[in-house]
Amino acid sequence: MDDKFMLMIPGPTPVPESVLLAQAQHLIGHRSGEFSQIMAEVSDGLKWLHQTKNDVLMLTASGTGAMEAGIINVLSVGDRVLVGSNGKFGQRWVDVCEAFGLKTEVISSEWGKALNPDDFKVALEADTEKSIKAVIITHSETSTGVLNDLQTIAGYVHAHGEALILVDAVTSLGACSVPIDEWGLDVVASGSQKGYMVPPGLGFVTMGDRAWQAYETSNIPKFYLDLGPYRKSGAKNTTPFTPPVSLFFAIQVALKMMQEEGLDNIFARHARLQQATRAAMKALNLPLFAADEVASPAVTAVMPQTVEAEKIRSTMRKDFDIALAGGQDHLKGQIFRMGHLGFVGDRDILTAIASLEATLAKLGANGFSPGAGLAAAQQVLSA
Ligand SMILES: *Cc1c(COP(=O)(O)O)cnc(C)c1O
Repeated sequence: MDDKFMLMIPGPTPVPESVLLAQAQHLIGHRSGEFSQIMAEVSDGLKWLHQTKNDVLMLTASGTGAMEAGIINVLSVGDRVLVGSNGKFGQRWVDVCEAFGLKTEVISSEWGKALNPDDFKVALEADTEKSIKAVIITHSETSTGVLNDLQTIAGYVHAHGEALILVDAVTSLGACSVPIDEWGLDVVASGSQKGYMVPPGLGFVTMGDRAWQAYETSNIPKFYLDLGPYRKSGAKNTTPFTPPVSLFFAIQVALKMMQEEGLDNIFARHARLQQATRAAMKALNLPLFAADEVASPAVTAVMPQTVEAEKIRSTMRKDFDIALAGGQDHLKGQIFRMGHLGFVGDRDILTAIASLEATLAKLGANGFSPGAGLAAAQQVLSA
């Protein structure tokens, strides 16, 4: 039953019907006043969601394009940078930095654990010559379901005084509070297919004043992702190149939905869904890959012991039309990941947990009592 298909992966995330329909409209010219009006509204909405007065630049790119744009617009070849890596996406930052010839030093933690803010503190305090140009981290590490302590690390970067902080907030924006201005985040990258309830294709980068200062001296070659022209055009509610017009129709509607719900309610909903999911997994004796204190609001990673993760995924897909994500790199086959990001509500979690229980029973998993997960999730959701 294809129309029953349910995405429970951490991106692309489910898209509301009103957003899908908005996207199906006839196109309009991107140099028209009509488009500029939409862009102005979208731009305001994005600033609201990102809790910032900074420019939120909109690129035709996935999240990685936004990350790359951040790097190449504020840094120069040979710059010394500290990159936090505790999963697939932290490693992606490392790869981007190395691709552009930055002097990349990696501060890592085991996958499934959070980055240790003290490691950054020590390295930054030791840098009395102020040679570190940037600290670069992933806020919500989607590959493991870990939320890094961005606020504390940002504090250490500010104490250093010279370094910029660049953040991948792809699966934290729209899921938990990322107060960009309050935390002084210089560059923040994200993408439309995650917390924004929109299909893939739009990448977002915010740039603060310090980032724009660094832009002036950045010498990494760039053209399509040169953010200067985006800023200049953006001030007139237009874009340097043809934008994905249909996605603008979509995000206009999605942002309206979010504004109706309100930021606090959105964050509270994600926290509740996360807690319900985790409570259910514990009740089902399914080990969680990340500890409660560092759990991502967007995705929960589970490491089943008595049945194979891939068998759970294929049965969920075949019998219940529910897509779960698998593990990446060395975690392939070891974990499954349940997304609860964006357009997800209580019913989706209850459905997914009930289907998971039926799947475990079918696969002959040991050590769980049918109904226990559902009861635990219900208890959280009704509290
Ligand atoms: C999805 C994701 C990205 C971006 O990936 P794209 O495929 O380029 O959109 C980056 N970082 C994190 C943490 C993500 O979850």
